[in-house]
Amino acid sequence: MALIVQKYGGTSVGSVERIQNVAQRVKRWRDQGDQVVVVVSAMSGETDRLIGLAKAIQNPPNPRELDVIMATGEQVTIGLLAMALDGIGCPSRSYTGGQVQVLTDSAHNKARIRDIEGANIRADLDAGRVVVVAGFQGVDEQGNITTLGRGGSDTSAVAVAAALSADECQIYTDVDGVYTTDPRVEPRARKLDRITFEEMLEMASLGSKVLQIRSVEFAGKYKVPLRVLSSLEEGEGTLISLEEDAVEQAVISGIAFARDEAKLTILGVPDQPGVAYKILGPIADANIEVDMIIQNIAADEATTDFTFTVHRNDYQRALAILKDTAEAMAARQVTGDDRIAKISIVGVGMRSHAGIASKMFAALAKEGINIRMISTSEIKISVVVDEKYLELAVRALHSAFELDKTA
Ligand code: ASP
Ligand code: MG
Repeated sequence: MALIVQKYGGTSVGSVERIQNVAQRVKRWRDQGDQVVVVVSAMSGETDRLIGLAKAIQNPPNPRELDVIMATGEQVTIGLLAMALDGIGCPSRSYTGGQVQVLTDSAHNKARIRDIEGANIRADLDAGRVVVVAGFQGVDEQGNITTLGRGGSDTSAVAVAAALSADECQIYTDVDGVYTTDPRVEPRARKLDRITFEEMLEMASLGSKVLQIRSVEFAGKYKVPLRVLSSLEEGEGTLISLEEDAVEQAVISGIAFARDEAKLTILGVPDQPGVAYKILGPIADANIEVDMIIQNIAADEATTDFTFTVHRNDYQRALAILKDTAEAMAARQVTGDDRIAKISIVGVGMRSHAGIASKMFAALAKEGINIRMISTSEIKISVVVDEKYLELAVRALHSAFELDKTA
């Protein structure tokens, strides 16, 4: 007998019929003898609808009241699912975040979970019931309703699984797992059977938006085995687990990419202590996040060039700030480009294999793709290229690393 936490997202509970399908699936697990806790999102589109209502009255909405309003979405789904389970002879009980006691801090609209009281849930499970918990919501020390940020039900599910020391946390969604890359860009992308937490974090933060990033961090920290799978089809999905548990590791697990970056360069700045701080300080003060940073040694040894990337939405703002900085520093010139894309190969296997970077560069060179920036970490190599080469680059790398073939 295993203790399983299952999370169903908005699409999976998007209609009465789909809720009934979820109930059937939950019952099958329970009939096998497993204990099941179900965490659900609001029906698809519902959270947006509620935010729309709030904004029609007050814009920007009061964060505390917005939480009161948004939390109703999940409350509807838990009640409906509990009824559907009841209707097919599967005893169950629904709980809001406040009832379970999902205790959070008081940061409305982006609260963090502090603790979860597992006793109520355990008592129900031991009495043979399925427990249905509202995702995305909690309650602070004062009893105020809080929510965890958009997509937060993933994190609710992982936190419940951690609190109960569940055997697995299954995230049911509208895709059947995590892919080697986005199948819309490379149709030969393959579903991965396994991926490590670290790899998943790199893949997720780089645009493979299957799971809320925070839920993956949480699962890694508390060692909760996490599985992503489809609520519409049968299948094993993708298991996200610790590196030690992986049987055999491919060198590269996947290719992530982001189209939403822009790069800025300041040319001919004096090469002396404090330069990086003078350039990036004002950017940080404006709350603009910087991703890649490159500083060159200039040929004349007196000045240097400095390049960094930001989110494309911040490009114009960053450019204006950098122009002011350039003037203050008597730098030669500021240039920028917001038609770039970042492509990364990700894999823990890189740690133990040499020559991965050169293989990547060779594959891009063969297609005549110019690399504009490069950065590396222990399990990732990223390049910036012109946006128009994104698809070509992803496909070239996908075949160079034979990601279409089973490891
Ligand atoms: N219903 C919330 C949202 O739409 C939380 C979630 O679905 O995970 O963001
Ligand atoms: Mg979601």
